[in-house]
Amino acid sequence: MSTLIDSYTSITGPDVVEQLKQLAKPMQGMRVVHVNSTKEGGGVAEILHKMIPLMNDLGIETSWEVLEGNPEFYSCTKMMHNAIQGNQVPIPQMLLDAYEQTNFDNAERLRKKLEEADVVFIHDPQPAAFLGHMENRKGKWIWRCHIDASTPYRPVWKYLRQHIRNYDASVFSLANFAQALPHPIYLIPPSIDPLNDKNCELSDEEVNQVYSDFGIDPDRPLLVQVSRFDRFKDPIGVIEAFRKTKPFVPTLQLVLAGGGASDDPEGRAVLAEVQQAAQGESDIHILDLPGDAHRTINALQRAATIVVQKSLREGFGLTVTEGMWKQKPVIGGDTGGIRLQVVNHHTGFLVNSPEGAALRIRYLMRNQGKLLEMGLKAKAFVKENFLITRHLREYLTLMLSLRSTAKDRIYLDY
Ligand code: UDP
Repeated sequence: MSTLIDSYTSITGPDVVEQLKQLAKPMQGMRVVHVNSTKEGGGVAEILHKMIPLMNDLGIETSWEVLEGNPEFYSCTKMMHNAIQGNQVPIPQMLLDAYEQTNFDNAERLRKKLEEADVVFIHDPQPAAFLGHMENRKGKWIWRCHIDASTPYRPVWKYLRQHIRNYDASVFSLANFAQALPHPIYLIPPSIDPLNDKNCELSDEEVNQVYSDFGIDPDRPLLVQVSRFDRFKDPIGVIEAFRKTKPFVPTLQLVLAGGGASDDPEGRAVLAEVQQAAQGESDIHILDLPGDAHRTINALQRAATIVVQKSLREGFGLTVTEGMWKQKPVIGGDTGGIRLQVVNHHTGFLVNSPEGAALRIRYLMRNQGKLLEMGLKAKAFVKENFLITRHLREYLTLMLSLRSTAKDRIYLDY
């Protein structure tokens, strides 16, 4: 009997877990391979770290392969990533050659396994050209795009499209992020894992620890934004919103928690700007945390009265869902995936300016009942829509439907 999947029963109830087992039943022993470009860092790796053990736990033989590239390859895929997200910069032919060579070399290395797999998930553009080298592939191939491809730089999309067009299906996170392709397109938003260190329940002691560690007053209201120090996350806008609210809510405190600024020149510059903007305000706490501070971030989100994610541009903001899971109303930037994550006026507010954010903070501070009600709804909304169990269900359903293309309905064995 499985154990990992069963541990989710405490969160989702038995029906969700039972349904996953039923969906997986016709796929026992099937071989599935996920391929991406890194084992650590970023949302894709974070999701795969749990998704793969869960699929194995359900009896599907699932493995994870990581593509290995040289610096030219990574410069190419970084440019490709930016171009797909709209950056109007052509990629030099020399870098495209490196992209194709790396794909060829890795495809050769993994050929046997990939050709024999029943289902292959290729994540993002880095390994997208594998398929062209799999003359004897047996299974279904899915291109899983995690980035916002809504307004790509056309020449780069045209190039990438020739590698993607022959896949059996593509998956995008949101309808807005998708492009037309000559095969079925599925929409599967990302998810959070309620049982990992970032999101699991914490003891009161562990939550209280962050008050003393960072000099936060536990008896006064607290705004928290967790984000890399990046201008698109608009930390300066959050400080402005805080300053505009402070005369009306003098007890208010703010935490801006980020990380990785020390080894990212751009991040360092943004951190310096943020520190400058916060000068003279002892109730603003700017924290540059290490990359593995998952439990600290969890505790800060739990210590928050309101979670803020005032991004100016965002794909799917995991921090929004993380905050909501901790029963906090979220004031989020009215952009990208945040529009799907926050139900405006129900689980939080979508805002377009520091003034708008300040207005919503004041409103919530004056309406404690509403604040609590929104927090409850936020958690319920995440439970229903954005947990890894839903994500897994959609991957299983996708795999089942690709295996049975001839049928218009699939009967599960009850
Ligand atoms: N995060 C972190 N440390 C930080 C800043 C962010 O661990 O200093 C985490 C955050 O909790 C979330 C992820 O990194 O899980 C960021 O994902 P999101 O989609 O919000 O933003 P991205 O950084 O991918 O633009």
